[in-house]
This record gives sequence, C-alpha cells and structure tokens, in this order.
Amino acid sequence: MQHDGSLLTADRYDAVLVGAGIMSATLAALLHELDPVLRLLLVERLEAPALESSGAGNNAGTGHAANCELNYTPRQADGTVATAKAVAINAAFERSLEFWGSLSERGQLNAQTFLHQAAHISAVWTEENIAFLRQRFSQLRELPAFAAMRWSEEPAELMEWMPLVMAGRDLKQPVAATRIERGTDVDFGALTRAYLLPLQASGALTVQYGCEVRDLKRLRKSDMTEADWQLILKGPSGRREVRAPFVFLGAGGGALPLLQRSGIPEAADFAGFPVSGLWLVCGDGQLADRQLAKVYGKAAVGAPPMSVPHLDTRWIDGRRSLLFGPFAGFSSKFLKQGSLLDLPGSVRATNLLPMLQVGATNIDLVRYLINQLRQSPEQRHEALQQFMPTARAQDWTLSVAGQRVQIIKRSKQGGRLQLGTEVVASSDGSLAALLGASPGASTAVTIMLEVLERCFPQRLASEHWQQRLQALLPSYGEDPIADPAVLQSMRQRSNSLLDLKA
Ligand SMILES: Cc1cc2nc3c(=O)[nH]c(=O)nc-3n(C[C@H](O)[C@H](O)[C@H](O)COP(=O)(O)OP(=O)(O)OC[C@H]3O[C@@H](n4cnc5c(N)ncnc54)[C@H](O)[C@@H]3O)c2cc1C
Repeated sequence: MQHDGSLLTADRYDAVLVGAGIMSATLAALLHELDPVLRLLLVERLEAPALESSGAGNNAGTGHAANCELNYTPRQADGTVATAKAVAINAAFERSLEFWGSLSERGQLNAQTFLHQAAHISAVWTEENIAFLRQRFSQLRELPAFAAMRWSEEPAELMEWMPLVMAGRDLKQPVAATRIERGTDVDFGALTRAYLLPLQASGALTVQYGCEVRDLKRLRKSDMTEADWQLILKGPSGRREVRAPFVFLGAGGGALPLLQRSGIPEAADFAGFPVSGLWLVCGDGQLADRQLAKVYGKAAVGAPPMSVPHLDTRWIDGRRSLLFGPFAGFSSKFLKQGSLLDLPGSVRATNLLPMLQVGATNIDLVRYLINQLRQSPEQRHEALQQFMPTARAQDWTLSVAGQRVQIIKRSKQGGRLQLGTEVVASSDGSLAALLGASPGASTAVTIMLEVLERCFPQRLASEHWQQRLQALLPSYGEDPIADPAVLQSMRQRSNSLLDLKA
C-alpha cells in the first residue's frame, strides 16, 4: 500500500509505532533515513525507552551471529548438523553492523556507547557434546562466514581463551571449545536510546511515554478521510485518539494482544507462550576483567533453545560485569511489567486448540520449566560452578531477566511452538507486528527491512528510497550468503567503521 502522508492533522501521523524497544527504534531510524519528512509517533506505556526486553540487564547482549550458540546448528538424524539457520543469522547480524557503521560514519551513532568486541566461544565437557561440537566445527569452518573459527582441546590454550571457565577445573575432565575472535556484546538499551534521541531532536519523531495503546481499529475510507488506523491511547492526561495509515506493533510481549485487537484475519493463527528468566550477575569489575568472552554451553534435554547456559562478559553503561544464565521459569505475564492475566486474556476460540496441542507435544519443555522453577539458590550456584568452578556465591546476585513470549502458530498439522521471530502483516500492508524472541535484537535491521518490504513495497522500489537505502546499506540487494566477496567487503567496511578486529 501507499502511505503518502496526506491529510495530516495534529493527531494524524504518517506512522504510529507502538513500544519504545529496539524494534520500533530501528524502524523509526530506517523510516527517517528513507524519508526525513515523515511524521512519526512512538507510544510507550512505561516512563522511558528500553525498560522491557531491550534493556541491557533484561537480555544477554550477545550480538547473535551464530558464532557460539549451539542451538542454531541442531544435530540431524544422520549425525551432521544443520547450518542454514546459523548462516542466515550470521548474515542478518552483518546487516546490523552495516547499518550501525553507516550511522557512525555520519556521526549519528557512537558505537563505543553500545558495541564491544568479545570473543564468542562454545565450550563443552562430555564426550557426547565434544563429538557434537567437533562435527559443528568441521562443517562451519568450511563456510566463509565461519572460516575464522578455531578449535582447541589443549588445557593451556583453553586457559588463555576462557580463564574463568578453566580455573579450578578437574583436568581429567575433557574440555573442548571453538572460538571466534570477532564476537560482540551489544547494549541494546543504549542503542535504542541512541536511535531515538536525534530523531526526537529533529522533530520527525514524537514520543509519548507513560501512554498505553488500549485499542485500535481500521477506519473505513470515505471521501473525507483516508482508510486510517485509529488508536486509542491512555496516558496521564486521559484518553486520546490518534490516526495513521500505517501502524507497527513493536510492543514486545504486548504485540500479540494488540494484534488480536486489530482484528486482522492473520492474527487468528497465533497464540503466545511466555517464558521468564533469571540471571546470576557479578558486578566485580576485576573478576570481569579476567575474561573477555562470551562462553556458550549446551542446553539440557528439554530446555528451550533460549535457555542455553552461558557465561558472558557484559558492558552495561560502560561498566564491565559478568552474567550467567538464564534460568528459565514460567509466569503468565507477557511483559516483565505486565499482568498475570496476559496469558489467559490471549486465549481465543481460534488459538485454544493449538495451545493445548503444544502443551501435549512438548512434555520435555514443561518438565524442564517445572524443574527450573523448583531450583534452589544452591542448585543455581552448582550450575554456575559447572561453568566457573571457582565462583563464590557471595559475588553473585540474582536478577530478573526480560520476559519472552514464544510463538504458538496454528497449522494444518496442529499447533506448533516456534522459537524464532515472525513479522505478521495485514494483507494491505497497513499494519505489521513483530512476534517472538530469538535471535531478536541482533537481527532487528533485517527484520525491519522485511517490514518495509511487506508494508511499503512501492515506496521501497522507488528510485529515491533505493538510492537512500543503497547509501545506508551498500550491500542491499546483494547476497552475502551466496557471494563470499560481498560478505568480505561488508566485514571490512564494518570493521573499519566500528573498530572491530577480524
Ligand atoms: C532473557 C533474554 C535474553 C535475550 N538475549 C538476547 C541476546 O543476547 N541478543 C539478542 O540479540 N537478543 C536477545 N534477546 C531478545 C531481545 O531482547 C528482544 O528480541 C528485543 O529486545 C525485543 O525488542 P522489542 O522492541 O520487540 O521489545 P521490547 O524491548 O520488549 O519493547 C516493547 C515495548 O513495548 C511497550 N509496550 C507493550 N505494550 C504496549 C502498549 N499496549 N502500549 C504502549 N507500549 C507498549 C513495552 O513497555 C516495551 O517498552 C533476549 C531476550 C530475553 C528476554
């Protein structure tokens, strides 16, 4: 559909974006770069940006590039691992780096405030897991995206790679690891704020904090009005109505209920399954300084893929810390600051059966979540010590992570638990919503390009937008997966603009 920005009034915008997390912020930045005269409204129910999943303390800050996350390369029946998802995630992260590089080059972003290099390591310590990692390594290193991956089983080298993981470990226990030097830690909260501030200063973006979108409906087109969306907002000064020809529901866990309220037929295929999480956090900067890496292990049987245990170096607000987890849990809230009625309130005649089918076919997951909920502080500390044998309980505190709402999708074969993200758009492109979690924030640029492709196809195809997109993302339209030369030139450019070492 064509969003032409005609008929603007004080309460009419070219686009309304719901939720001030990384997704809406990325979309706002992209839309503004493509058409600086667009009038954008961002509505956020909390008092500031990035207080839900995009806040640095609410996620792991891993620049997901599939360097170390073993769940992106599942084992197949023939003993090999599937690599397609890893390659796609790697390319999507390169796209994010390319975008950040361009904004840094123009002086609109300062990468040092949100992006830090930290080696990405996969580490395992049972014979079975070592065999899996070896297989993964042998396949990935043949691919251009992962050619720099290194392997080690040598205790001395492993001690250099990940001293906190190796110190105090029984050397009779075999350990193997792979390492990619060019891994990153990203403060997605700082990035969200960095995207929004200049847009607000330019006057292109109005942000309403403390204001919740309560309802939305599509108005009928008449001689006098466009076929806008009407949104009902509830803020400190009461109820208000705004209109726009395009709406993006970047409301994180709050996107599903709003999608359902929109009444678009596509919404009927979806339900949500919330998973909560806890981290152990160590703020001792000296300890954090000893290991500059993100070390990912192998998930337990039945664990949802996002519950792969990992020990991470973090930079939050410029300070180094360590994070371990996540420990999964269950809460019926869809947002950390949500309501216990979120899950029951999302049940519809169309999604009840798929939800029940997912419950019945994922007994391992249900059992895993119950066990995680029952864990005592001592058991959590034991899990940490498997990763870091010298960890002392008094150095670590428990912290509540963001809430994830996994997608349950109706299909002909029954309800399916889907562990990625999905853009759901109305057939006329006037509304899009982002559902799901992982790999999430790291791939926000690619996800928001999909929103543009599905909702603004004509404008995207115009010479004007194409030129602007090409200037922002020089590799746009080329395929870094099929063409190693494209990948290499993207990496060289990002390394130089963002100060990353190969
Ligand atoms: C434990 C955990 C670990 C993770 N680790 C990583 C990682 O290492 N790397 C990575 O790339 N990704 C990670 N993710 C995923 C990543 O955090 C998310 O994909 C991303 O932050 C989602 O951004 P968002 O903008 O969609 O949602 P959010 O950041 O949750 O923002 C949504 C906003 O919408 C607001 N909102 C909701 N409903 C309404 C309404 N009705 N009206 C107005 N406002 C509303 C909320 O208050 C919130 O501010 C992790 C997530 C979790 C939970």
